[in-house]
Amino acid sequence: MYKVIILGSGPAGLTAAIYLARANLNPIIFEGKQSGGQLTMTTDVENFPGFVNGISGPVLIENMRKQAERFGAKFKRGWVSSVDLSERPFKLVINEKETIETESLIISTGASAKLLNIPGEFENIGRGISTCATCDGSFYTNKKVIVVGGGDSAMEEALFLTKYASEVIIVHRRNELRASKIMQQRAKENNKIKWSLNKKPIEMVIDNGNVIGLKVMDLETKKESIIESDGIFISIGHTPNTTFLNNQLTTDGNGYILVKPGSSKTNVDGVFACGDVQDSKYRQAITAAGTGCMAALDVEQFIDDINYKKVTLSINNNIL
Ligand code: NAP
Repeated sequence: MYKVIILGSGPAGLTAAIYLARANLNPIIFEGKQSGGQLTMTTDVENFPGFVNGISGPVLIENMRKQAERFGAKFKRGWVSSVDLSERPFKLVINEKETIETESLIISTGASAKLLNIPGEFENIGRGISTCATCDGSFYTNKKVIVVGGGDSAMEEALFLTKYASEVIIVHRRNELRASKIMQQRAKENNKIKWSLNKKPIEMVIDNGNVIGLKVMDLETKKESIIESDGIFISIGHTPNTTFLNNQLTTDGNGYILVKPGSSKTNVDGVFACGDVQDSKYRQAITAAGTGCMAALDVEQFIDDINYKKVTLSINNNIL
């Protein structure tokens, strides 16, 4: 039986691993289906403190991993297909085969940006197609970009991008926006933002490895056209990676794990959550790392508490 298992190897899980390994708690990290998480799909990360000239996402992840390994953290390829959190030790099924047991569990399985699933999209993420304006916006200084989506995230991303881009075109599949009135108003009042509504994206247009536009179909006339742009930001929502939990933890209406304020504690004693799987708002590498640190410290406290209870129980038994 393990003392602590970490699920997920993005910045949250890796930070938790560094702290727990340094505390001699021998964490085991199951890397998940996308080892390293969303950062491995970005190019340069310029807003993670400590790197004057930025650092590539995959290198940042690799460094965190080596740092955790230096203190004894062990990485295992594989993903947890189901869990039983009804009693301790918790039972985890790995790759739908092997079952292992752990005293405590950190869930840092992240969230996946929803994609359009159209030709030219997946293979060009990080090369002109992005799911994060905060991460990649500055690469489009004085350039023309598209934001796909009609929700609050799309408005927020578009407004953020106006700091850099010369023009931001919001492409949305309906005439009405889903975004809140205030966010719509802010976007509509911004001169750099243009609108292309009632348009269904059908293909990323790539020339010589560069994104040059988005092919769309007008849903009224059914006519296809190409909207030219230097970059395309997809902002159609995120899905927290929590299906394997089978509703055993309390989540919000969108499936994000709810933690007790100011901590990483879930509604199940001994189960902790950090990173994007419990954060639908900030979703940054640095906030994920911060909550990963919190989870590690919460686990340390939890293990100290159960060890203390075991010692007290054995002393009491000896006295009796
Ligand atoms: P969302 O509200 O679910 O909006 C997703 C948008 O993407 C919708 O406009 C949807 O179109 C569009 N979309 C979905 N799938 C698509 C597809 N396959 N092709 C084309 N378009 C597609 O997601 P969100 O904007 O990420 O927001 C999530 C939650 O976080 C919301 O509750 C939001 O209010 C909140 N949030 C708040 C703030 C803020 O207050 N500052 C900022 C960000 C997010 P349809 O409208 O046609 O369905």
